[in-house]
Amino acid sequence: LNRRLDGFGTTIFAEMSALAVKTGAINLGQGFPDTDGPEVVREAAVRALRDGRGNQYPPGPGVPELRTAVAEHQQRFYRLAFDPDTEVLVTAGATEAIAATMLALLEPGDEVIAFEPYYDSYAATIAMAGAHRVPLTLRAPDFRPDLDTLRDAITDRTRLLLLNSPHNPTGMVLTRDELTAIAELAVERDLIVVTDEVYEHLVFDGEHIPLISLPGMRDRTVSISSSGKTFSFTGWKVGWITAAGPLIAAIRTAKQFLTYVSAGPFQYAIAEALRLPDSYFTDFRASLAAKREILSDGLIAAGFEVYRPQGTYFITTDVAKLGEQDALAFCRSLPERCGVVAVPNSVFYDDREAGRSQVRFAFCKRTDVVEEAIRRLSQLR
Ligand code: PMP
Ligand code: GLN
Repeated sequence: LNRRLDGFGTTIFAEMSALAVKTGAINLGQGFPDTDGPEVVREAAVRALRDGRGNQYPPGPGVPELRTAVAEHQQRFYRLAFDPDTEVLVTAGATEAIAATMLALLEPGDEVIAFEPYYDSYAATIAMAGAHRVPLTLRAPDFRPDLDTLRDAITDRTRLLLLNSPHNPTGMVLTRDELTAIAELAVERDLIVVTDEVYEHLVFDGEHIPLISLPGMRDRTVSISSSGKTFSFTGWKVGWITAAGPLIAAIRTAKQFLTYVSAGPFQYAIAEALRLPDSYFTDFRASLAAKREILSDGLIAAGFEVYRPQGTYFITTDVAKLGEQDALAFCRSLPERCGVVAVPNSVFYDDREAGRSQVRFAFCKRTDVVEEAIRRLSQLR
């Protein structure tokens, strides 16, 4: 392994899901639903396969049907206009979107400011591009960003801000005031901002506001999203980027040599998913909002300190109240102790002290599964 990837090893999600398989524990670790997305969307994928749509290399930027559907989605939910031909790029999930963006836009030695705890691929792809991450710590209990610290962290070498809202793993959702302050800084310091919005439809308190909609941001924001979370098809790996033409062209250059193109038939199916009626999106959010209540009440009753998320399908907790100091050790022993898998947030921080005893639980599971996990976790004390 080259020096850039030194220390990255196996992702915590793979480690913890393997542990769940090995022990038969309930997996509230890796964020994937235990119920697949809508039948009509699966049927659309089958039809595309059968009718020979996308079985050979699709166009590099994505099939026109999906690019158009992405543009329509941005118009419908946010009143944002994008040209499907020049301002939308289909990727192999948000993961490839993030990697292609870093590889296309960063020079070796550039600095990327990102809040921590950060999603693990941010650190790895910044490193692969030869750039440096500059983490700004979000702190319990509310994980709000400190905008003065952000201002102070910007240097002549800062090339990108990398934002994630709704935020994985804390569930923090940036407010309009926070986004406005960030946009003003980006304009003032001439920065590009990459926004990871994969949980855009999972906001329970407040609303999702795309940064790109704020003054001065249309030409300097790279918005990333994915069908995995919104439609419960994490295995299909269909993601996309919306941004101004020159940014899309740069990122497309990198994408060409990562995957060349993304798999075809699922693109047609996700184009149909994006056109589902509003009721799909509201019902999906409502069902997860109910599970947020069940899991947070259950975790509180089981003795965890719970940081209530405003969005995403994760709950961050602190296990210090249970007498546990080390989140990673706690998560590695949890399956054996009570048959549940969770993810330690500590591995998403450079400042290990800040997240030392934080543990994340996913609630994108059937209600009976969440309830059984709570019963098991209640036996810890
Ligand atoms: N960003 C965040 C914040 C995530 O939680 C995930 C996991 N779904 C991704 C990106 C990757 O998304 P995808 O599965 O579409 O590659
Ligand atoms: N995004 C998912 C999570 O946060 C996992 C995706 C992955 O395993 N890379 O749990």
